[in-house]
Amino acid sequence: MDIEKLRPRFRGEILTPGAAGYDSARQIWNGMIDRRPAVIARCTGPADVVAAVRFAEESGVYPAIRAGGHNVAGLAMVDDGLVIDVTPMKGMTVDPKARTATAQTGHTWGSFDRETQLHGLATTGGLVSTTGIAGLTLGGGIGWLMGRCGLACDNTLSYEVVTAGGTVVTASAEENPDLFWALKGGGGNFGVVTSITYRLYPVTQVLSGMLVYPRSSTAEVLRHFRDFCEAGLPDELIVYSGIVTTPDGFPAVALIPCYCGDDRAEGERLLEPLRKFGPPVADMVNWMPYLALQQMLDGAAPYGIRSYWKSSYLSGLPGEAIDAVAAATTTIPSPRTLVMIEHAHGRATAPEPGATAFGARNHAFDLVILSLWSGAEEDAAQIDWTRNTFRSLQPWTAGSVYVNALSSDETGRTAEAYGANYARLREVKARFDPGNRFRRNQNIQP
Ligand SMILES: Cc1cc2nc3c(=O)[nH]c(=O)nc-3n(C[C@H](O)[C@H](O)[C@H](O)COP(=O)(O)OP(=O)(O)OC[C@H]3O[C@@H](n4cnc5c(N)ncnc54)[C@H](O)[C@@H]3O)c2cc1C
Repeated sequence: MDIEKLRPRFRGEILTPGAAGYDSARQIWNGMIDRRPAVIARCTGPADVVAAVRFAEESGVYPAIRAGGHNVAGLAMVDDGLVIDVTPMKGMTVDPKARTATAQTGHTWGSFDRETQLHGLATTGGLVSTTGIAGLTLGGGIGWLMGRCGLACDNTLSYEVVTAGGTVVTASAEENPDLFWALKGGGGNFGVVTSITYRLYPVTQVLSGMLVYPRSSTAEVLRHFRDFCEAGLPDELIVYSGIVTTPDGFPAVALIPCYCGDDRAEGERLLEPLRKFGPPVADMVNWMPYLALQQMLDGAAPYGIRSYWKSSYLSGLPGEAIDAVAAATTTIPSPRTLVMIEHAHGRATAPEPGATAFGARNHAFDLVILSLWSGAEEDAAQIDWTRNTFRSLQPWTAGSVYVNALSSDETGRTAEAYGANYARLREVKARFDPGNRFRRNQNIQP
């Protein structure tokens, strides 16, 4: 790869080993990933992306694409290769009348929401503000507003994409509809997405926060969580559960509801049975601005932490599964680790599985074991615990996984993530990237 051939056509920074800023540009969220690219091309706009993609093709290299850097598998970085880094691309416009926003893909949810909230608007983003809009939306995008608004990918109206051939195309319901379908969950397989237009909804205040119970009551709390969810929730209310350790070291099980409707009295009435149960040792549920909700969990998953995940949708949440979760989590080896059971319903599960590339619409509960720790010397033990815990819960897994939750050793699970949509995704991949230029991802083989 002769970088001198890229320089004259590129406006942004070109970082090579030893350059100022190279080390910070190669750092991503998962501190276990320590890769040294030969070049990090920091794009200032679509023209830089076109230059970098054409350079990759001419040089016969397979670039990684970096946006928010949150992917746990470290897909944003590559040893000795080319990284196309879109983080400097932070242009954005909001049309409050049409309730849409067009954002370049360097945005995180924090910077995106800041702009939409000026107008009292929001769309489904992730649980923390530091995740990139790009990787999250391209994989599907689950979050606080999904019961009412659908997944992040359900709210995309168009994408601007630089294809493997280095041309700029639009994907929308009218233009390149197959590509539009594939980008709604198919990840970074089809090109470098430079901007996304989203549908927005009025959201200002939400009723949310944590209900904390002692870890010893995990089995009862999770049964209550299951029964509460299965009794039928309105689209505006979502509830997550998690086995966590509070910042002051208290081993806990927590419920995290979020009501995003505009009827305050109704929100409080709906949450009453949840808040009365137990009772919790701490009830931190309160009305808060949407931006505060988006940052509420940021401290739980700081940049640079070491991490390994295992995840699967569950076929159900019977008492035996809950007891197995309670038993497995008595041995959590790190106070930072989170074992989440996330509930989905309403507009998140309403579309037919084939309506978008994101096809996992039939599962109410998603298990995500997020192991987080600080010291490299703990890597083997933490990873072993995660794998063993996941193994012990296998009888209740549904054979389906969210693509954005796959760890680096799980490339074999990509087809599982796409299920019946995988064959159509392969066809679209073969049309837009027949040479598999974009293969440093949860790869869909053309
Ligand atoms: C702390 C934390 C919280 C999370 N919470 C949620 C959550 O609430 N909901 C949820 O759905 N997910 C969540 N995730 C998972 C998250 O969606 C994925 O990690 C996602 O890949 C992150 O996107 P990114 O842009 O930050 O990551 P990156 O690592 O920069 O990108 C990941 C991959 O996406 C593709 N990609 C990124 N940008 C582009 C682009 N412009 N064009 C084409 N392909 C691109 C590439 O293949 C890239 O390697 C969370 C992750 C973390 C670490």
